[in-house]
Amino acid sequence: MNNNNSNLNKYMQRDAAVLLYSNAIAGILITLIASSFLVFAFTYPEVDPFKKAWWIGMTALLTIRFLDVMWWKHKVEKTEFNGEKSIMYFVVGANVTAVMWSVYLVYTTTQAHSIELTTTIITISAMAGGSATVLAAHKFTAMFYPFILLAPGSIGLLVSDNYPLQLLGVLGLAFSIVMLIISRQSADFTRHTLFLKNENSVLIHSMEEKVEQRTRKIYELSNLDPLTKLYNRTAFLKQLKLVTAASQKPFALLFIDLDGFKKINDSIGHKAGDKILSKTAERLKDFALDKQLLCRWGGDEFLIALEDTDETSAVAQSTALIEVISKNHTVENSILSVGATIGIALYPQHATSEDRLIQLADMAMYYQKKLMRSTVGVFSEQMEKLYSYELRLKNSLTTAIEKNQLRLVFQPILGSGDIKISAFEALLRWQLDDDNIPPDEFIPIAEQYGLIHEIGAWVLQQACEQAVLWDVQQKVAVCVNVSVIQLQDEHFIDIVSDTLSSSQLPAELLHIEITESVFASDPTVISNQIKNLQVMGVKVSIDDFGTGYSSLSVMQDLAVNTVKIDRSFINKINNQGNGDAIISAVMHIASSLNFLVVAEGVENEMQADELIKLGVDYLQGFYYSKPIEVEDIASYLAQKYDN
Ligand code: C2E
Ligand code: CA
Ligand code: CA
Repeated sequence: MNNNNSNLNKYMQRDAAVLLYSNAIAGILITLIASSFLVFAFTYPEVDPFKKAWWIGMTALLTIRFLDVMWWKHKVEKTEFNGEKSIMYFVVGANVTAVMWSVYLVYTTTQAHSIELTTTIITISAMAGGSATVLAAHKFTAMFYPFILLAPGSIGLLVSDNYPLQLLGVLGLAFSIVMLIISRQSADFTRHTLFLKNENSVLIHSMEEKVEQRTRKIYELSNLDPLTKLYNRTAFLKQLKLVTAASQKPFALLFIDLDGFKKINDSIGHKAGDKILSKTAERLKDFALDKQLLCRWGGDEFLIALEDTDETSAVAQSTALIEVISKNHTVENSILSVGATIGIALYPQHATSEDRLIQLADMAMYYQKKLMRSTVGVFSEQMEKLYSYELRLKNSLTTAIEKNQLRLVFQPILGSGDIKISAFEALLRWQLDDDNIPPDEFIPIAEQYGLIHEIGAWVLQQACEQAVLWDVQQKVAVCVNVSVIQLQDEHFIDIVSDTLSSSQLPAELLHIEITESVFASDPTVISNQIKNLQVMGVKVSIDDFGTGYSSLSVMQDLAVNTVKIDRSFINKINNQGNGDAIISAVMHIASSLNFLVVAEGVENEMQADELIKLGVDYLQGFYYSKPIEVEDIASYLAQKYDN
């Protein structure tokens, strides 16, 4: 409201200045004519020196005022000028003029003959009369001008000893008083008119401002992501469409996905996650510099369209961007950082539609992330083939169980002392039409699309049911591979115990194999699950040991039963007896932490001899047996125990 009032005042002052200046030229001209006439008409042939000096002064003053009017008309009027200042310039000029006239009249009353005096009074009265309207926009001047013009001169006449002059004085004084009243009313009226006019425009202006604010708010709500203030999906797509419609110029679309964001969000909290997102958005804004189209696509995904960019430059810029994104953040006194993987698709080379382009950039990011996190990948035809293959696998996998396409095969694990069967590892097979899809290909897909829960439960059930049938001279255990995702499932322990009771398999004959990668996920959840399994009597093995993330302290805390040394280390054993340093190190740890060791992927006699020499507890590999089909197990067992 205060703001409105001060605006109103401002507008009214400007309007007043416009009114005053618009009449100024006429006023100055009249003054010039009148002053010249009065000075020169009556004193011919010789001009009174005082009047001459006065005339020069008046003309100089009028010239200055004229220049001020010109300046105002050409330099000020069309700008957002300061009304108060303009009024002040004008008013000073007008009032000095009034004082000049006053002096002139007073002087004339003491000098002039009656005709000149009368003419002077009439002329000045006319000027005073005109000023009431011309100066109405400034109350003080409007009243001061006519009054000062006439009153002092009239008083001078009044106190003279000449009767007709006294009458003239009375007339002049009366006129000046009437003018005072008229000018005052006229000024009030003008002010009121200006007030009404501007009150409306101030109201309209403030309404316009409110409408603009609302419009901005609505724009933000529908176009900007509230957290990062970047464009949202809809707005980005709209803008991208404009870019492609406007020109065929090539550009690169960057699909940016943060690495390690979920971990921060899950472990430190959503507030920290939000901070990281908005800080990352700031860095992206700095990178895009308002020139490149940028949005938050969702979650921890961002898109940038790099205009006028070829593949080489897009890759170079993306690499630089990853470095920028990966710099440390300080969030609530702790130092956090995320990485980013970027996928690139090129317009129009890879696709011409916006949706497709984004899809391809996403695909490129997805494969790059699988390959190596925090690097840059460009879309390729090959990727698309791989993608449609994966899509086919994913779709087929959902019905694989009901279509009887899945089966288990079993690979024996033998004791290194007696080479007797200690266990079978259950390995999943999938026959899709005529293809045997390797588990390394379909297990990750099953994990990714959440199909692993159903498939895993089926494997467990099948494996336990088979193991019950192997009841020969010696107990034979079954080893079942379990994904981290299954292990994290809160129902997993119930599923295991239900399977054990329905299949009637003693718990100690079930071994659960989990890969080292479990350590990378939430250790407390995993460690609890492992303890729960062990409480039931189920044994737990660490698979692929040595290939990934493993920490001895975690190994100690988890107290697993068995460790399976990865095939890659067994491969390195050669005739020179090299490559077994890691294996002997593992044997050392095993004896102090008290777990058993299995060597996987034993392919020849030399490896077997070396492993036995090193004291490995169990052996598994093609040298002893390939995975065996269910229907061949009975004869395999019979043959094994007949010898
Ligand atoms: P893994 O658990 O390390 O299984 C051992 C893999 O090594 C099996 O491959 C097996 O056939 C192979 N192998 C055994 N001995 C030798 C050898 O002497 N030389 C060579 N070159 N290979 C040997 P497979 O069956 O293709 O399984 C691959 C992986 O798939 C498994 O690795 C396991 O991680 C996963 N997998 C298999 N079945 C299941 C399952 O039912 N559930 C889960 N979650 N994963 C499974
Ligand atoms: Ca395994
Ligand atoms: Ca393994």
